[in-house]
Amino acid sequence: MITSSEWIQQYPILGSVANREEVFWCNPDYTAFKTAQSRLTLSEEDIFNAEQRLARFAPYIAKLFPETQPSQGIIESPLIDIPHIQEALSEDIDIRPGRLLLKCDNQLAISGSVKARGGIYEVLKHAETLALDQTAFTTDDDYSILDSAIYRQLFSRHSISVGSTGNLGLSIGIMSARLGFQATVHMSADAKQWKKDLLREKGVNVIEYQGDFSKAVEQGRQQSEQDANMHFVDDEQSIDLFMGYAVAAKRLQQQLQSLNVAVDANHSLFVYLPCGVGGGPGGITFGLKQVFKDNVHCFFAEPTASPCMMLGLMTGLHDKINVRDIGLDNVTDADGLAVASPSGLVGKTLYQMISGCYTVEDNHLFEYLNQMIDLEKISLEPSALAGLPGAFRLIATTVGQQYIKQHKLSTSMANATHIVWATGGSMVPDDIMNSYYQRGRSLLAGDNQSIDSDS
Ligand SMILES: *Cc1c(COP(=O)(O)O)cnc(C)c1O
Repeated sequence: MITSSEWIQQYPILGSVANREEVFWCNPDYTAFKTAQSRLTLSEEDIFNAEQRLARFAPYIAKLFPETQPSQGIIESPLIDIPHIQEALSEDIDIRPGRLLLKCDNQLAISGSVKARGGIYEVLKHAETLALDQTAFTTDDDYSILDSAIYRQLFSRHSISVGSTGNLGLSIGIMSARLGFQATVHMSADAKQWKKDLLREKGVNVIEYQGDFSKAVEQGRQQSEQDANMHFVDDEQSIDLFMGYAVAAKRLQQQLQSLNVAVDANHSLFVYLPCGVGGGPGGITFGLKQVFKDNVHCFFAEPTASPCMMLGLMTGLHDKINVRDIGLDNVTDADGLAVASPSGLVGKTLYQMISGCYTVEDNHLFEYLNQMIDLEKISLEPSALAGLPGAFRLIATTVGQQYIKQHKLSTSMANATHIVWATGGSMVPDDIMNSYYQRGRSLLAGDNQSIDSDS
């Protein structure tokens, strides 16, 4: 077993990481798209198939969830400018990044987070497989007929389970229960009470575990292995989840076109994605790379207490390393990002496609949360703000500047577009959002006071 001081000797930046300092790290294994893609078996065709499957389900989704009728049963989020917060953050570093956009996955229908992409896709695919295998249903049918007694009965004989302390549980639980499946979410006892209450209200079976959460997930996995009628959604290894996320890239391409945003050799696209276990940002990165190739640069954002993907990529150990190995505690208020070991599937698939990772202190997340409400009237959960400082850190840090130089982007940076991926927020109850807002406010007031007293 390697000790934390040995890690730090080998990778000096880990000294700062172990001290919970904010760092910006660029991935030395990042490679031209063509080379990186050549060793993968997953391809653009897999994304196309996932996109087609979601299109087949659209009439069914529109019927079950009337809130998706304006978009004809397609679950997608807006892409918008955030000029006011861009102005405020630019002042701090005296440089203005090109154009700053927000991808509002906090507004995704049904479960209000990025998990509505992967989680819902996996549940739908499972439902489709059952209907095709066990009934006369075909892919040419109108999928809204799945909302009828015979299919509901079929689904009710099957169960879907997942281990999650947060948004994945909400997404899988709500969707599975609504389709008629028996749904079970394995949660740690310290998961947020409102999430447990909401799931139970929707008819989901919530099982709580004292102690180590990874044991809870393991128990869920074992249970499903013994039960042929149970499907376990595996956050760390599921290709279906990954592909559900990847579809976002195709939709984003259209949205950028309608905003007249060019992405080409002179107009780079930078995307900043909050990362927990890595499936969400990983799937989206895979999709973006297929679409924009070398013209897109994806950076993953993690809390200072849980930089698991950074560690996995840096050491090449992927899921075999844990943030505790360098003395971090994985305790963060960024619920969705509190993950100690990254997904091996994501790290091994994408180690040549991820441009880098950076960390953000919890206090900063709350400050951004407060500013996002004050300046843009957008309520995000703490995790969802990790992408916000990315563009500024890229431009203002030495490491970021080296990346820009190395990829010959210096002259075109003024034309660049930066997308902050806002991954969640609309499910958070008002009183809890308000306490987050107040916490950000007092932190900002404290910051200003210390600036005043210094001067
Ligand atoms: C789950 C989640 C993420 C990260 O997704 P992973 O697949 O765990 O990396 C980011 N933000 C929010 C709000 C989430 O719920």
